[in-house]
Amino acid sequence: MILRMSSLFLRTLREDPADAEVPSHRLLVRAGYIRRAAPGIYTWLPLGLRVLRNVENIVRDEMNKIGAQELVFPALLPREPYEATGRWTEYGPNVFRLKDRKGADMLLGPTHEEMFTLVVKDLYSSYKDLPLSIYQIQNKYRDEARPRAGVLRGREFVMKDSYSFDIDADGLQASYELHRKAYIAIFDRLGFDYVIVKAMSGAMGGSASEEFLAIAENGEDTFVRSPGGYAANVEAVVVPQAAPVDASGVPAAEVVDTPDTPTIDTLVDALNAKHPRTDGREWTAADTLKNVLVMLVNPDGSREPLAIGVPGDRAIDEKRLGAQVEPAEVVAFEEADFAKHPELAKGYIGPGVLGSENTSKIRYLLDPRVAEGSAWVTGADKTGFHVLNLVYGRDFTADGTIQAAEVRDGDEAPDGSGPLASARGIEMGHIFQLGKKYAEALDLKVLDQNGKLVTVTMGSYGVGVTRAVAAIAEGNHDELGLIWPREIAPADIHLVATGKDAAPFEAAAKIAAELEARGLTVLYDDREKVTAGVKFKDAELLGVPTIAVVGKGLTDGVVEVKDRRSNTRVDVPLAEVVDHLV
Ligand code: ATP
Ligand code: MG
Ligand code: MG
Ligand code: MG
Repeated sequence: MILRMSSLFLRTLREDPADAEVPSHRLLVRAGYIRRAAPGIYTWLPLGLRVLRNVENIVRDEMNKIGAQELVFPALLPREPYEATGRWTEYGPNVFRLKDRKGADMLLGPTHEEMFTLVVKDLYSSYKDLPLSIYQIQNKYRDEARPRAGVLRGREFVMKDSYSFDIDADGLQASYELHRKAYIAIFDRLGFDYVIVKAMSGAMGGSASEEFLAIAENGEDTFVRSPGGYAANVEAVVVPQAAPVDASGVPAAEVVDTPDTPTIDTLVDALNAKHPRTDGREWTAADTLKNVLVMLVNPDGSREPLAIGVPGDRAIDEKRLGAQVEPAEVVAFEEADFAKHPELAKGYIGPGVLGSENTSKIRYLLDPRVAEGSAWVTGADKTGFHVLNLVYGRDFTADGTIQAAEVRDGDEAPDGSGPLASARGIEMGHIFQLGKKYAEALDLKVLDQNGKLVTVTMGSYGVGVTRAVAAIAEGNHDELGLIWPREIAPADIHLVATGKDAAPFEAAAKIAAELEARGLTVLYDDREKVTAGVKFKDAELLGVPTIAVVGKGLTDGVVEVKDRRSNTRVDVPLAEVVDHLV
């Protein structure tokens, strides 16, 4: 295939886009691969689409190799299955919701566990049908609280999601291992420097899970690893001392789904429903003043909480409080102070109130030590006092355990495999052993060998395809532009004809045709009224790994071949150039 730049739908930009924070975003826009359509929503232009498809095809190829079968679900989905699993509520404002003309609730799929479970239930009924792995490569929709860095965190993005169905836990283990191997092959082929880390399962539910993180300074995830091979997202590092149990035997942290704006009563109800006291009496609002540290969960389901504190009226020594929470900031505020602290207006814990504009979850911790005002209490257990600037991963983790502050570089790994060192990464893939959560909620059962109905056990496995494009760009560029690995580049060869004479254009056209005949894709800069300087700049910006220039050298019978990454150049005789490039 020949892509002629004289007619290619492409405009490169000399200036950086104003909203671009990271190199990949800057360069993908400047090189004419993507255009912003709305915040976190991007159009893929011809060259960008070629890159995206290349990544997709690597993922598809490796999924097919493990016997997974491709299908496609709609992105527009009915509410009911998500209602049945609780995720209609759990996902909160991260889900794009809409109504059809009859008023029925619908959503744009953020992930498809429910739909896959139902289609298997629809069609399969016996253990003989299993194991089964099916997948799709499809647009996902998440109304991210902070879309960022171009397609690195978008609100519409392509994900490969696959799901495995097995009759028992051993089967799931085998399916999980197959996926893990496929993911290693995928991320090797994509050229990532990556780590596989223990992860939290988040909104997916389930037990064992691992993430594939591309190592990158601009990554949003922090992980720790030891020389002995321990590696975990800091979200998932378990520090033993951070597992307090209430005098009544209540475990440390719990996430409670609440319909709208949570109040103290919501919390008390949740405690009574989920954690009845062992002494027989009911939890009351007064208990929450003493025993409960409340965190209003950020609607994006992860990162910083909107607010954290103890609801109620209990003064403690302020100085000590300040020392304990350092380096997070303790602020006194009253409702009137919302103007000064707009971040608190989104979610707050006031005297007798748990308030929030759009929080559908609260998370509470129970710890007798909160009542004593000691140890790891994050402070804020005074009316109107709140902890700001809590850093997710550093000061607390998603299950509400305040522990990661304990994980420091140099600490011994939990498995004793040496001192931990931290670094940042971009989450490229995530594999989960879901177990029976979805199959139970949606009643997916098959007959086993003995004719008995058993609930199917599942895994789910995601790769961020559009994110991979950005992450590859993040790791493969210089100050001049992008440098794609060959398997991902929009073309195999960037062929440039320069000069005012017809000769180089004729020679280049012939080379292009021969390369095409040999199965290569050629990006051919055949523009006539564009200077050589501009063409070279564009070639550097676009990042095709091999650049061949038919210009001045032609009088000596040579074509200059440049390696974009190493910037080495060789003159190749015209007659040999096609063989050289193939
Ligand atoms: P993150 O922690 O970055 O928000 P996630 O844990 O919510 O990601 P998963 O639900 O595990 O994401 O989805 C599987 C994969 O989809 C992720 O590993 C990531 O590569 C990709 N992905 C998730 N959210 C986005 C997004 N907003 N934009 C682009 N890719 C995404
Ligand atoms: Mg997310
Ligand atoms: Mg994640
Ligand atoms: Mg994830």
